[in-house]
Amino acid sequence: AAKQSGRNQYAFFSPQMNQQLHQRIEVLQGVRTALEQGHFQLEYQPVLSLADGSIRGAEALLRWHHPERGLISPGLFIPTIEDSDLIGPVTEWVARQAVQDLLKLQQLKPGFVVSINISGAALHQNSTRDFLTELTHNEQVPDRSLSIELTETSMIRHLEDCRQTLEQWKAVGMSIWIDDFGTGYSSLSYLHQLPIDGLKIDRSFISELKPGSSNSLVATIMTLAESMNLLVVAEGIETQDQRDCLTRLGPCLGQGFGLYRPMSLEALQQLLEQDNEALAATAEPSADSA
Ligand code: C2E
Ligand code: MG
Ligand code: MG
Ligand code: MG
Repeated sequence: AAKQSGRNQYAFFSPQMNQQLHQRIEVLQGVRTALEQGHFQLEYQPVLSLADGSIRGAEALLRWHHPERGLISPGLFIPTIEDSDLIGPVTEWVARQAVQDLLKLQQLKPGFVVSINISGAALHQNSTRDFLTELTHNEQVPDRSLSIELTETSMIRHLEDCRQTLEQWKAVGMSIWIDDFGTGYSSLSYLHQLPIDGLKIDRSFISELKPGSSNSLVATIMTLAESMNLLVVAEGIETQDQRDCLTRLGPCLGQGFGLYRPMSLEALQQLLEQDNEALAATAEPSADSA
């Protein structure tokens, strides 16, 4: 350590900085290996219409199955790779996998929507922008069935570049959503300047919902969305009370552990099959009940 090495010796890194550097190098090397050896997986969290409970789509969430360390959540490694040359390849892996899965899911449910998360660093890379455009075009992804989730802070830094990227994505049929809406502490004027389709209200607002309260924050966001013709997803619904408050406030889609946890593609396919059977059963009364 620096202290033991004597007063005339110069230490560039404190032990703590050294450790952080090692961790960073380990993450970057690990992610590279994960891409090469197929340790990444997507899970899908269903998005429901709160009015009738039908499943409308799902958010793709990245999972890293580390051979020694087990499951590593994206919140732990995405920030580390953001300022490296790995954010592009990881984003492209996610997009390719999500589109492949989307086409399968649409065979079970026409109109099914899959959303993917794009971090700020990837949003501003021309190669990733063009990769997504071409993928959507070449795979003939139906209009409005692939959504992109972006945070406010990732967009407002380079508003004009961002507008051009989003226009390009819109032109091939993608939808654009603001993720974690309400947490960016930014002016709302960007909503008029960018081609936005919907807002995902951050979980922190949903957890504050109380029966018998005016829930004015979420109510205000919903009014804003309605006046601008934007769709709304409430994120992080955990309780029946929260769900009831939301249905009282207005039309809205929802996602959360209280509805469904993120699941494998196979589990989602089973869920959609069950959903279809339930729909068929309510639509046509069976022969013996007629
Ligand atoms: P996010 O996009 O806001 O995704 C929602 C996160 O909230 C997910 O965590 C999800 O599992 C969690 N969640 C959903 N419902 C509930 C709930 O009712 N209660 C609680 N406590 N949590 C809930 P996850 O999968 O760990 O992802 C964390 C973040 O990592 C995501 O936040 C997103 O910003 C980022 N992320 C995930 N996948 C990707 C990806 O493929 N690319 C990029 N760039 N970022 C990703
Ligand atoms: Mg998201
Ligand atoms: Mg979110
Ligand atoms: Mg988030």
